[in-house]
Amino acid sequence: MGMPMGFTLPVLRPDLDPLRPDQAPARARHEGRLIDSHGRQIRDVRLSITDRCNFRCVYCMEPEDRFLPKMELLDLDEYLRLVDILVDLGIRTLRLTGGEPTLYPRLDELIEGVGGRDLDDIAMTTNGSLLDRSRLERWLDDGLRRLTFSLDTLREDRMKTITRSRTTVSHVLESIELARSAGFPRPKVNAVIIRGINDDEVGDFAELARIMDLDVRFIEFMPLDSNRAWNRDHVVDADEMIAAIRARFELRDDPNAPAHSTSTNWTFADGAAGRIGMIAPVSRPFCGACNRLRVTAEGRIRPCLFSHEEWDVRSLLRGDEDDRAIGDAIVDMVWTKQAGHGIDQADFTQPERTMSAIGG
Ligand code: SAM
Ligand code: SF4
Repeated sequence: MGMPMGFTLPVLRPDLDPLRPDQAPARARHEGRLIDSHGRQIRDVRLSITDRCNFRCVYCMEPEDRFLPKMELLDLDEYLRLVDILVDLGIRTLRLTGGEPTLYPRLDELIEGVGGRDLDDIAMTTNGSLLDRSRLERWLDDGLRRLTFSLDTLREDRMKTITRSRTTVSHVLESIELARSAGFPRPKVNAVIIRGINDDEVGDFAELARIMDLDVRFIEFMPLDSNRAWNRDHVVDADEMIAAIRARFELRDDPNAPAHSTSTNWTFADGAAGRIGMIAPVSRPFCGACNRLRVTAEGRIRPCLFSHEEWDVRSLLRGDEDDRAIGDAIVDMVWTKQAGHGIDQADFTQPERTMSAIGG
C-alpha cells in the first residue's frame, strides 16, 4: 500500500488570525458573507437531521452506541429558521444527512420547507434502506435535487458484516433504480474502502458504475469511527484504488468536475456510462478549497469535520436572539474554521464526535 502523502496545514491568509474574530467578521456581516480567517468563503452546509441510524456500519457506529434524547435535537421550525439564516449569509447548497436522514420523522415537511428556500442545490445522503417511490417522487417535486447512496460491498454476506443490518445489497441497488425511475438524475454511490474488509471490490464497483450508469465515489477510511479502531494500515489510499480500477478499465479525467468538488473524478475512456470519483481526505487533503460548514442534529456548528471545537446555535435559537444576532454569531463561528484537518500531523487526535454524530 502507498503511504499517505505528507501534509502540512495550508496557511492561506497569514495576515489574518483565527483567534481574532474582530479582524474580519464585521466586514463579513456587512456583506452578508461567511468567510473564515484563511479567506475561504463558505457556501455549502451539511445539515445533520438525526443522530439515529438503523445500521451500525463498522467504520461508523458501534451496536451499543446510544442516541441523544429527542428534546436535544433541533425541531422542524428550528432547522428551517437556521437554514433561512444561513441562506441570508450566502449559503448556496445544502446536503441533508445524519445518522440516517430517512429516520427523521418530519423529513417530508423539512424537504418541502428547504425546497422553498433560495438554494442552488439540495441533496441528501442515505443508506438506501427505507425509501419508497411515492416519497421519492414527493421529495423531487418539493425540491430535493440529488441523492447519494452509501453502499460498501456488492457481496450479500459482507453486507451483513459491514452494516450489521438485515438490509441486502439487492435492496439498496433496487432503491437506486427506484430513485432514478422516480426522476432523480444519475445517483451517486459512496463506498468506503477498508483494507481487509472490501479492498478486493474496487474493480467490481467500477464495473457497477458502468453497468448501472452511476457516479461511484470511493472514500478513504477516515478517523471518525466510534470504535476508534482507525489506523493508517486500514486506509486504502486513492492511488491504490485508482491502480486497481486501471487494471481493468482505462480512465480519463472528467472535465466537468465542479471547482469545490471534494472528489477527483474520471470517466471511462471507452465511452461507457458511469463515472468514478476519489474522496481522499487522508492522502490528498482538499482543505484549501473547502467551502463547507457542518451542523449537528442538536444544532452545533462544526466548521470542520475534524474540529475539536463546536459552537452551540441551539441555545441561540431557543433564546431571545433575533435572526440578525444569530447570523452575526455564526459569522464569528465560521471565522475560526481551521486551515486543515491535519490527519497526517504527528499531533493529530481523532475528534470525539463520530461521522454519524457530525453528519457525513
Ligand atoms: N446514513 C447515511 C449514509 O450512510 O449514507 C448518511 C450519514 S453517513 C455518516 C454519511 C457518509 O459518511 C456515508 O457515505 C458513510 O459511508 C461515510 N462515513 C461514515 N463513517 C466514515 C468513516 N469513518 N470514514 C469515511 N467515511 C465515513
Ligand atoms: Fe448509519 Fe450511515 Fe453511519 Fe452506516 S454510515 S452507521 S448508515 S450513519
